[in-house]
Amino acid sequence: MRPLIFDNRFVRELPGDTDGINMPRQVYDALWSSVQPTPVANPQLLAYSSEVATLLGWTDADMQHPDFAQVFGGNQLMTGMQPYAACYGGHQFGGWAGQLGDGRAMSLGETINNAGERWELQLKGAGSTPYSRRADGRAVLRSSVREFLCSEAMHHLGIPTTRALSLVATGDGVVRDMFYDGNPQVEPGAIVCRVAPSFIRFGNFELPTSRGDIGLLEQLVDFTIARDYPELHGDTQEKRGQWFLEICRRTAVMIAHWMRVGFVHGVMNTDNMSILGLTIDYGPYGWLEDYDPMWTPNTTDAQGKRYSYGQQPYIGHWNLARLKDALKPVISDVSVLDAGSQVYADTYSETFGTMLAAKFGIRELSDEDAPWINSAFELLHKTEVDMTLFFRNLAMLDVQQPTLTPLYPAFYRDDLLQRNHAEWDNWLQHYCRRLQQDNLPTGERQQRMNAVNPRFVLRNYLAQQAIDQAASGDNSLITELLTVLRHPYDEQAQYATFAEKRPEWARHKAGCSMLSCSS
Ligand code: AMP
Ligand code: MG
Repeated sequence: MRPLIFDNRFVRELPGDTDGINMPRQVYDALWSSVQPTPVANPQLLAYSSEVATLLGWTDADMQHPDFAQVFGGNQLMTGMQPYAACYGGHQFGGWAGQLGDGRAMSLGETINNAGERWELQLKGAGSTPYSRRADGRAVLRSSVREFLCSEAMHHLGIPTTRALSLVATGDGVVRDMFYDGNPQVEPGAIVCRVAPSFIRFGNFELPTSRGDIGLLEQLVDFTIARDYPELHGDTQEKRGQWFLEICRRTAVMIAHWMRVGFVHGVMNTDNMSILGLTIDYGPYGWLEDYDPMWTPNTTDAQGKRYSYGQQPYIGHWNLARLKDALKPVISDVSVLDAGSQVYADTYSETFGTMLAAKFGIRELSDEDAPWINSAFELLHKTEVDMTLFFRNLAMLDVQQPTLTPLYPAFYRDDLLQRNHAEWDNWLQHYCRRLQQDNLPTGERQQRMNAVNPRFVLRNYLAQQAIDQAASGDNSLITELLTVLRHPYDEQAQYATFAEKRPEWARHKAGCSMLSCSS
């Protein structure tokens, strides 16, 4: 395995807790704790992303080298690695949760690739840390497969995200009570190596502020600006202000993308919000099947629906308000902090507006479009229509003589389709008249639409099938899904089955329609 060059700025430049005592505890005056991965019985590489390997300067031979699984299963370190767990807090489900920290994630180091880019490598599930509280620091195969596949799928959809290098089975069992119903089971363990320029979260800033440790907060703020936002200029205060506004902007763009493709994060706590505006922490996430703004995949959130699909833009705003509270002590110009809210709202509506226009294949949205767009979403909801298939197939309409036929594959319920057929026909007439106004050439319209409406997303039941097969020792579906999801906007007719709507058997099946946080 080719060596990597490490430049571990986080642990070099910021105060850390180097006691090495691996016991759950409160950690003060430090932004990280040094840790060691806990060795595993029999690490085996199950899958890897060759794109991420290439980013690091590695070839297939490096990935398949026996040392790879040893390092990325947590049994060995490479020269230059300095494992640490970050100390952070967060608001969970709307309430302040105090210190959380990397309870089962540990960063191995920041590698610099040939292009001079910084990529931090982080294992998820490599054993306990001072932040593991009452848990074991491990991750099960099902949640690791989900994180591995979805990170890469999101990247190929053009959505800012942390990446995933590898999926390694540990050979150890992990006990989980998946439904929190008193039936713990032993499940296979696995470790994902996530890769991102930075894993700093909103919660890293919230914790020192909550403790009144403004000195520590200030160090982290200026470090993050210097390392992760080198493009910002001006004096310290100017940079801090611009930085906050840029986080607001990036968060808005990220969430607009989620809304575009029907991705529901599921646990948008402030400890799961990246300071770079990347999608981070793939847990009980899910993809909208039939369009429903109130849908959440997370069973823990089934009552409150705080993190349901339609709530996400609002929650992004709420989370930024928590970040703003955390940064108040170090940004003297209050008007900058107040402007964040507007930057977020403006960026979101502009970005999502442009996406929506492209999704429907029109040049530009105007206020006059609101009624027919709203009725489209109302109809999608009321008649149980698959969001992904609807938008993708919408490009296939014959604008001169529209019929609902190309959209039939998107309908989950024939009775609802029949009952609302007339209303849909009406809508189609209206929509196609609007398209005619724009008069875009058919090919151009289709191209615009197909560039934002994926043919393939990581459907919940597909991820579950890949997990079930992997649990019985067959990784081929993981690899196959990774291949398909590399080109989500291409037709890839040979993979047409992966684009079909959720089969009926999966409607209420665990893992397919609902997920617990237990992972
Ligand atoms: P999450 O909901 O995954 O963002 O996790 C919230 C907090 O719980 C974070 O501090 C995690 O590190 C911690 N955590 C979650 N699962 C485990 C686990 N199996 N072992 C230790 N800590 C965990
Ligand atoms: Mg988390």
